[in-house]
Amino acid sequence: MRFVADVMLGKLARWLRILGYDVAYDPNADDEQLVQQAVNEKRILLTKDRHLVERWRKKLRLNGYLLLNSDDWREQLKQTVNYFGLDIHERRLTRCPNCNGVLDEVPKEAVRYRVPFFVFVQHEHFAQCSQCGKIYWAGSHYERMNAALDELLREEPLKNENANEVDNS
Ligand SMILES: [Zn+2]
Repeated sequence: MRFVADVMLGKLARWLRILGYDVAYDPNADDEQLVQQAVNEKRILLTKDRHLVERWRKKLRLNGYLLLNSDDWREQLKQTVNYFGLDIHERRLTRCPNCNGVLDEVPKEAVRYRVPFFVFVQHEHFAQCSQCGKIYWAGSHYERMNAALDELLREEPLKNENANEVDNS
């Protein structure tokens, strides 16, 4: 399942990537570019913009879309996870939150001079973004992020049916 997020959903895009999902996001994209990318790359559009959906509904129906109703990225994440039934555990730390690139495992020796010394000493497993080259490891920051996600997504699904508008046909 691949997504493209509208310009207002940068935080949501980042957190979905942390869960391991492929989310295209360009803060400078206009409506037409977003819709075109959804069509060309078979991505589901995540948006807060009702007018965009109304104007381009026919094209958006090809791959589906989700109209989000909250300004809070936490609620947006819950709504997206619940609606699409996303797996919130299996893929974590497989994709770069910054650029959406896939992370590849790299041997410890390869990162010796590219991470702080204490990190190198304390960790055995490292991953590198195939696009931007950033190095990741399961350190304390990652642990906190994981814990925050667990707590957030453990809560009951939203039951606000009127506010959801979805169309996956
Ligand atoms: Zn990256």
